[in-house]
Amino acid sequence: MQAELAAKNKQYLWHPFTQMKDYLEQEPLIIARGEGIKLYDVNGKAYYDGFSSVWLNVHGHNVPELNQAIIEQLGQVAHSTLLGMANVPSILLAEQLIRIAPKGLTKVFYSDNGATAVEISLKMAFQYWQNRGISGKHSFITMNNAYHGDTIGATSVGAIPLYHQVYKPLLFSPHVIPYPYPYRAGGEEAAVEDTLGRLESLLQERAHEIAAMIVEPVVQGAGGMIIMPDGCLQKIAEILQAYDVLLIADEVATGFGRTGKMFACEHDEVVPDIMAVAKGITGGYLPVAATLVKEKIYDAFYADYEEQKTFFHGHSFTGNPLGCAVALANLRLMEERGLVEEVAKKSAELQQLLEPLSDQQHVGDVRQKGLMAGIELVRDKETKEPYHWNERIGVRVCQLAREKGLLTRPLGNVIVLIPPLVSTTEELADMVQILSDSIREATT
Ligand code: PMP
Repeated sequence: MQAELAAKNKQYLWHPFTQMKDYLEQEPLIIARGEGIKLYDVNGKAYYDGFSSVWLNVHGHNVPELNQAIIEQLGQVAHSTLLGMANVPSILLAEQLIRIAPKGLTKVFYSDNGATAVEISLKMAFQYWQNRGISGKHSFITMNNAYHGDTIGATSVGAIPLYHQVYKPLLFSPHVIPYPYPYRAGGEEAAVEDTLGRLESLLQERAHEIAAMIVEPVVQGAGGMIIMPDGCLQKIAEILQAYDVLLIADEVATGFGRTGKMFACEHDEVVPDIMAVAKGITGGYLPVAATLVKEKIYDAFYADYEEQKTFFHGHSFTGNPLGCAVALANLRLMEERGLVEEVAKKSAELQQLLEPLSDQQHVGDVRQKGLMAGIELVRDKETKEPYHWNERIGVRVCQLAREKGLLTRPLGNVIVLIPPLVSTTEELADMVQILSDSIREATT
């Protein structure tokens, strides 16, 4: 079966974020099924899903309760639009999202994935000021190495040169301030000071032309699992509020328990004006996303039709009933299992497990918040000299890990561990051991 599928894979598929020339030189990994936190390829080999199938799996794979929720909804209706009408699960899920979201977020606008949830956030923020009759607030603030998805708006507020540079002529240009990166910015205090100082001086000059700032709260994911020091997000929120600029929190990666709180904003008790969620919302089962807003945002669009304040945005699958049904089951299961509290506990365990990695010769920094971890590899630990990108050290580590039965994807020189939230202590220990061995093998 492997040979036949591999031939068809080669003939017909173009994979995301993948240089196909490299990909086709290797035997492709073809997943046939999943069970618990493991995936099985068509040859029957088992792998830990060490990156939660790109940061979204919550309860593991093939979960009876989640399967059942989809089957039951399937017996009712698979899809019906939200354009001008509603469906049952989309209403019930919106209620639950508002119940668990930071207090002050009151309305839910659905879409299909992280990028669209961000795209909607940006368009809402932009139109919000116009609907209020305040002109000139046309630009955005983003942060160094930000990643918010791959649609054009989301790419515009992206700031990872490897992914975004080529599209520059096509994009709008936000202001970019540094994300606090303690390892490379002289420690926590200096990093935070730099970020806040730049934000404040930018706003002193230009707040009148800035609609919103978009932030990956507490953990900057694709930029390298960079952790914002405690209190920084709150300071950012306070500064933005003082200058009348909206805060968009992109909780696509951090939402639904990943960092040890239901939403990362809670670590700093921040309530953003707009919050984008996706990935973990359905437990990683189906593509559902949402943009949650404060009442003042919704109110700015609520008017007589003739005032032309309507938000003319939507997707065919907005509020898909199957997706909303499994999201409801996911949230129910999270609550029954006390999963967010569990993650907070396991976070401490994972920290202990990761600690010995710092002793390795080429491990520069080990960063972690909840069950989101990044291990930054460096050529020289003293000088923090990075490996040259062309050495693809991260790719080599992940290839070795895959041979040893763990799947993950690197972010440049940063090795990522983002296991499903239900991973047990033993499973976490096993995964860290594989990573540790793979890093040692690749770097010595
Ligand atoms: N925002 C953040 C912070 C993300 O990490 C991601 C995906 N990794 C996205 C947006 C885009 O989400 P999607 O891939 O579902 O479009």
